[in-house]
Amino acid sequence: ISEAMAAKLNQQIKEETYSAWIYKAMAYSFEDMNLSVFAKWFFKQSQEEIEHADKFAKYLVNQGAKVKLTEIPAPKTDWASGEEICEAAVEHEKKVTKMIHDLWDAAHTEGDKATLSFLNWFVDEQVEEVASTTELLEMVKLAKTPGQILMLEGRVWRMVESRS
Ligand code: MG
Repeated sequence: ISEAMAAKLNQQIKEETYSAWIYKAMAYSFEDMNLSVFAKWFFKQSQEEIEHADKFAKYLVNQGAKVKLTEIPAPKTDWASGEEICEAAVEHEKKVTKMIHDLWDAAHTEGDKATLSFLNWFVDEQVEEVASTTELLEMVKLAKTPGQILMLEGRVWRMVESRS
């Protein structure tokens, strides 16, 4: 693969790792709110983002390109509510979707068929990511009282279980 493409994929390793860091911060915020099932959902999400970063790294290794790890910025830690966290998670996944689509466009422009094929998995994965975070947000919006939020945890628990 081209040096330009390798640089772009290395940048995405950083973005996926940053996503993991963001979700871990969100998980600890839910722990602060004593909503441990939501925390579990976000810890799982964080773990998946590390897996995404490793997928990019493994692909670079397979292509004989160098993996370059960089500094990761500090994530936001002062969230006002669970709803605010879920809204930010949806927005973040939409941002990552745009990044993946930009990578796909770049690979397409270069005629880099192997990278296009590799990225297809991420194109599909982002559809899932936006759908699952949006589902979580819609449920949080419906739960208005502490009792409703606790009941909602049962459903979130099933979401976490079905993803593992
Ligand atoms: Mg990801």
